[in-house]
Amino acid sequence: MAGKNRQVVLASRPQGEPVPANFSIVETDMPSPRDGEILLKALYLSLDPYMRGRMSDARSYVPPFAVGEPLGGGTVSEVVTSNNSRFAPGDIVSAFGGWQQYSISDGAGLIKLDPRLAPLTTALGVLGMPGLTAYGGLLNIGDPKPGETLVVAAATGPVGSAVAQIGKIKGCRVVGIAGGEEKTRYLTGELGLDAAINHRPENMKAELKAACPNGIDIYFENVGGAVWDAVFPLLNNFARIPVCGLVANYNDTAPPQGPDKSTLLMRSILVKRLRLQGFIVTDFLKQTPEFIRDMATWLREGKMKYREDIVEGLEAAPEAFIGLLKGKNFGKLIVKV
Ligand code: NDP
Repeated sequence: MAGKNRQVVLASRPQGEPVPANFSIVETDMPSPRDGEILLKALYLSLDPYMRGRMSDARSYVPPFAVGEPLGGGTVSEVVTSNNSRFAPGDIVSAFGGWQQYSISDGAGLIKLDPRLAPLTTALGVLGMPGLTAYGGLLNIGDPKPGETLVVAAATGPVGSAVAQIGKIKGCRVVGIAGGEEKTRYLTGELGLDAAINHRPENMKAELKAACPNGIDIYFENVGGAVWDAVFPLLNNFARIPVCGLVANYNDTAPPQGPDKSTLLMRSILVKRLRLQGFIVTDFLKQTPEFIRDMATWLREGKMKYREDIVEGLEAAPEAFIGLLKGKNFGKLIVKV
């Protein structure tokens, strides 16, 4: 196919907070599918906090993005041309097309989507990777029981809001933490949480304590930093802490200042018999069928609500991504390519 492809490439690795100069928008030749391959056109691109980790070259559970190459990312894409018998032009799939208009796939890992069943963007949020993260992390590690207190931060984002609502479905008392009054109003209003705390004011620690009169049985860790410091003293004996993400630290260039708190942490793990467990969403891939079944049911029954923050155009992706790490998004951040 003739024409050009537009890409957002990693121009340089960020030092601390990413800046627009770390990205550049380039035009390249249209890629051409070989035997067994298909040409995909991105309709929607997912922006996710984990991308910050992959912009650095530190060793992690996935390799870093390469400088000069388009950044990777989940997409909802349309099949343009196909040399693969499993896909036909016009099919809509969830793919890993990255920050570009057109990409090539050999079909591995693509999932066909039916736009009549759910809005296509939900494949990047509530019915996609963030939804499975919440479902797998909370149910397997958090082990929620009726009457327990569950606390979750980044609670209006796709992971946190699903965690909070699954917690309600399982009968927990749920306290959400988010940045700003508009977000906390949404948590207690639209999502029906028992309490919501704004993490920005100085008195956040006292507010959280007042909102958790019986302590905390489950803390779903999305952020770390000052929120973790506020949660830590409130943890009950046998509390479970699924460690999902530490977005407050993703732009750090050095360990935090101050005394080493690891002895205090280890002592609490021992005497309170705390269970902290990190996980990566792929640990729960086998549970995808149950996840889709339960989430689809909860959505239909109105027990699961979701919110999306959709920005227009690939060019808007760098700025939107920089904002994601500071809480400028309100809901699942998606680029309409
Ligand atoms: P969100 O859309 O919730 O975006 C991140 C949010 O983090 C921001 O909107 C902001 O919300 C909050 N935040 C940023 N900095 C701070 C801070 N210093 N203190 C408190 N909150 C802060 O993202 P997701 O729902 O996609 O992801 C949530 C977490 O889950 C991330 O840490 C992510 O890395 C992790 N994750 C982990 C996976 C895994 O496999 N382990 C898979 C997917 C996600 P606010 O305005 O409320 O502060």
